[in-house]
Amino acid sequence: MKMNILSGGALQMKKHIFVPTTEDRSETIILPVSCYLLRHPQGNVLFDTGCHPSIATDPAVRWDGLEKIMVPKHVPGQDVIAELGKVGLQPEDIDLVVNSHLHSDHCGCNEFFVNATFFVHQKELETASDPEIEGKGYFRTDWDHAPSFEAITAQKDVFNDGRIVLIPLPGHTPGMMCALVSLEQDGAFFLASDAVSLEVNLAEEMVPKNTWQGDLLLKSYDEIRKIEASGAQIICGHDAEQLLHLKRGLDGYA
Ligand SMILES: [Zn+2]
Repeated sequence: MKMNILSGGALQMKKHIFVPTTEDRSETIILPVSCYLLRHPQGNVLFDTGCHPSIATDPAVRWDGLEKIMVPKHVPGQDVIAELGKVGLQPEDIDLVVNSHLHSDHCGCNEFFVNATFFVHQKELETASDPEIEGKGYFRTDWDHAPSFEAITAQKDVFNDGRIVLIPLPGHTPGMMCALVSLEQDGAFFLASDAVSLEVNLAEEMVPKNTWQGDLLLKSYDEIRKIEASGAQIICGHDAEQLLHLKRGLDGYA
């Protein structure tokens, strides 16, 4: 199996949201958005779909004000559809999409994957369906069109061979799902998505302010530390510094 880390955009936000000890409340931080292509012998899997292409050019249309808090900083073409093209794939070639959760920067390109089955946690679907939460990071336009959602309720070994194991780890949102990916040459990677936004969050048990339930996030950190101790490299959801040291695009892992 091969893994490619693809760009799904880049956002600028206030640093104190992610690092609450930040003294200068005007300080900002760039948050890369990543998607992960997993080419398994039984099918092409995409973990998260990033920001919709229009977010680079006209974010207000889709985000309706959220773009003032999550300020897009990427250029057109820095989205998962263009990125897949660089590795020679079309959206139609994706068989399975896993949405770690349904925030707009993780499922914005769902609509393009017309041949895919979508795996999403049951609690995330319930949360995103609540009219009260519409616009607060969740937008129905992103996710409410998939013909085939498969609702996940527990840990799931996608192909029953241990290569891609989905692990629910709530806290950031109710239905947050991470993936433990095992590659033959490069070893194990834990795709944390927003269960660990930045390396410092896990290292210093820091709960970002955009967390649904902090006590659950801390419990999830405990689980992630066990996974890390077993030898997996933790790949954070939005850590620009960490991403500098990872292979991206065509230059993938195997
Ligand atoms: Zn999120």
